[in-house]
Amino acid sequence: MLVFKFGGASVKDAGAIKNLAQILLDYPSEKLMVVISAMGKVTNQLEEIIQLHRQHNEKIKEKVDQLFEFHASVAEELDVLTNVFVSDFIDEQKENLVKHLGQFENNPLQQYDQVVSIGELLSTRIIAAYLDSTIGQCRWLDARKLIITDDSFTEAKINWPVTNQNIHALEWNAKISVCQGFIGSGTAGANTTLGREGSDYSAAIFASALNLPALTIWKDVPGVLNADPKKRKDAKLLKSLTYREAAEMTYYGAKVIHPKTIAPLARHHIVLTVRSFIEKANPGTNISDSFTPQNLPIYIVNPNQILITFTKREFAFMEEKNLAIIFRTLDELMVKINMMQISATTFSICMDLKWYKYTQIRERLGELFEISYNDNLELLTIKNHTPSIIASEVDGKSLLLEQKTRKTYQALYAATDTAEVSA
Ligand code: ADP
Ligand code: ASP
Ligand code: MG
Repeated sequence: MLVFKFGGASVKDAGAIKNLAQILLDYPSEKLMVVISAMGKVTNQLEEIIQLHRQHNEKIKEKVDQLFEFHASVAEELDVLTNVFVSDFIDEQKENLVKHLGQFENNPLQQYDQVVSIGELLSTRIIAAYLDSTIGQCRWLDARKLIITDDSFTEAKINWPVTNQNIHALEWNAKISVCQGFIGSGTAGANTTLGREGSDYSAAIFASALNLPALTIWKDVPGVLNADPKKRKDAKLLKSLTYREAAEMTYYGAKVIHPKTIAPLARHHIVLTVRSFIEKANPGTNISDSFTPQNLPIYIVNPNQILITFTKREFAFMEEKNLAIIFRTLDELMVKINMMQISATTFSICMDLKWYKYTQIRERLGELFEISYNDNLELLTIKNHTPSIIASEVDGKSLLLEQKTRKTYQALYAATDTAEVSA
């Protein structure tokens, strides 16, 4: 059996879904487990709907109607809207969305997970029906019956023993099984999500539970490149990477694979191939225990950063006990530090800018520390740097922080023009 994962871009409309079916047709004699995300930017649209609901904004009705009309139109173009398995399900999910918005008012994270999971439920229902009507023998699986998590809504942790058991207990005799990425269910059966962009991780969970040697993730890029091709025209394909290198890239913020994906694959020595659903002849990038050195610098740019500086209110050095208080609070608030620096009287951290997190930090630590910040920053990480590469990247930039180890260089500076270039 092969496990494939297709993300939002690869199922963004009926044409993209037909292309997905063509890819599957290249594997006539294999059983296929296909993990799929919500179509296009549907998860963002569902987030917007939640926001409109919280603001009591009347535009919500129009947005909800548009979202469901879009799914119905894709289903119609694929000739599956007359299938009650699809049409009834679309109606049911619309009712669920309205119902969930009215529930869990005092648990916004739980409410969020009930609503955003609808994106994956809709995409997989439509695609499973289409694959069944064209290729045949396709079944729809409900990830909520297989992937069991704790109740940390929006960042749920996998209950591996139960999840493995559920996946093993299933009979894998269908030619194609289609399942949602990103979602699972919590201890009392409520929908949970694994973190934004988490479908890659779901695919890794299936591949490892099924003890398979390989996983393929199909993307809109030729594989993992040494930079985001939307940001750098000269980005080059990395033909192979070790698990450690790939995990480091995701840790530093390369958005091509979800950070949690690599660990289960590395534990089970499952080879991950990242390849293009557009250029199908391109073999892509293999991520495994071994690799062929290419000696390319790797560039990772994290936009939208904030640098927060803590200074003790009573004049004092920034001692370890102060750091312990800060770290405990950041851990409790689930803040990921992208870079940090200590001086005699201050301690600074750089993190992805989320104002609500900044407000929480102020509320929790503002009494003990003076807190100041710089926002609108960009964090550049370069792996395999040389002095000339660093100079050509940061000369002329006003640096706020800079750090260098033998392999990794990082610089934090004021963001200027972050416009995307076409690949
Ligand atoms: P999907 O959600 O469809 O699975 P994503 O959009 O999450 O795919 O990931 C693919 C995108 O990742 C590409 O379109 C590209 O812009 C971006 N990306 C960022 N860094 C890299 C990189 N180093 N190599 C390739 N793509 C990258
Ligand atoms: N649909 C989810 C998201 O956009 C999960 C994913 O695409 O991986 O975050
Ligand atoms: Mg994605």
